[in-house]
Order: sequence, then C-alpha cells, then structure tokens
Amino acid sequence: MKNIIIFGAPGSGKGTYSDEIVARYNMGHISTGDVLRAEIKGGTELGKIAQGYIDNGQLIPDELMINILAKTYDALPAGQGVIFDGFPRTIPQAEALKKMLAERKHEMGVMIELVVDEETLMARLLNRAKEQGRADDNEVTIKKRFEVYHNQTAPLAEWFEKEGIRNTFTWKGSKDLMLSEIFAYLDTLK
Ligand code: ATP
Ligand code: MG
Repeated sequence: MKNIIIFGAPGSGKGTYSDEIVARYNMGHISTGDVLRAEIKGGTELGKIAQGYIDNGQLIPDELMINILAKTYDALPAGQGVIFDGFPRTIPQAEALKKMLAERKHEMGVMIELVVDEETLMARLLNRAKEQGRADDNEVTIKKRFEVYHNQTAPLAEWFEKEGIRNTFTWKGSKDLMLSEIFAYLDTLK
C-alpha cells in the first residue's frame, strides 16, 4: 500500500481507523501521540519535555517532532507503506515530511481527512476520558486542543489539496459506513 496520512481533529477517529487500515492492508503505523505517551510513561528526557505541552493541549515544537518522526519512520520495515496518524499537524511538519520522504525516494501517498462535527468530538473525548483516563481528555484541555487544531492544523487541509492528495470523508453517524467508504477508496489504490 502507498503511504497514508490520516488527518482530523482530536477525537475524529484517526487511531481507530488507522488500526482497521493497518489490519486490512498490512502496513506500518506511526501514531505520534502514542510515541509521546510511551516516552512519558518511560520517564525519558523527551517524555518530560512532551508532558508539559500535552497537558496544556499545546503542540510539541516542530523541530523536536520532526526528529522523532524521522527516527520512528526509519525504524519500520521499508516497502510496506506507513500510515501517519497525528503527523503532520503544522505546515512546517508537512514540508518536513515531504522532504524526508523525497530524500528516501518515497512518496507521501494519499491523505485521508476525517470531518466530524464538534459536538460529536467532545462527546467522544469525554467518553474516552472515562474509559482510558488520558490526562489531556478533560473539558478544559479538550477545548484548547480544538483551538490549536483550528488555528495550526486545520489550515493544512488546503496544503494537501494543493498537493493533490486530499480525500475527505464526513461522519454520517456510523463507523461501519465511514470505514466502508474509506476502504472502497483505498482498495482502488492497490
Ligand atoms: P485523537 O487521538 O483522538 O485523534 P489527538 O489528535 O488530540 O486525539 P494525539 O494525536 O494522540 O491526540 O496527540 C496528543 C497530543 O500529543 C497532542 O495534543 C500534542 O500535544 C502531542 N502531539 C502529537 N502529535 C504531535 C505533532 N505531530 N506535533 C506536535 N504535537 C503533537
Ligand atoms: Mg490518536
């Protein structure tokens, strides 16, 4: 499979659909949020830096994030395709991803944008707070994450549009429907 960038607001289902896509097309998966949470759990130097940003709903600085991404990408087996979940989140990250892949003679592949209304997003994140107890899933931090998403990340959709690889999928109330639309599209790429 080609590389896939999965894009959307906090709670839009990037992780959930990534798992389904990985299982169907047998590809690599990089979730930058999961990478950071593992560093925090391990008590590493990086984890300590990341925690301050995450707890406040802010983004980790681009330069740091770009280094982590390249290291994680190079550690995966080559040639299977990778799904990027939670990266890029800013224009500089997107430019860096494009450059990093070009240097390796790889392509960005396709971008999948998940569009979900904010009321649904908030309900999902508050529900996840109960189930998983993520420190940043509380109402105050969620609102900050939405703000950061609107200001810093959402404008990237246009960047992908210009690259000619933006594919938008809109939530219509059913996960199965969303998934079958995404699979129908990805099946055409194989
Ligand atoms: P969801 O997993 O439900 O889509 P989310 O997008 O808010 O929600 P993660 O992708 O797990 O969650 O990210 C959690 C936090 O990790 C972010 O709020 C941010 O602080 C940090 N983070 C993750 N990826 C990046 C990135 N590419 N650049 C900067 N910070 C990041
Ligand atoms: Mg996630």
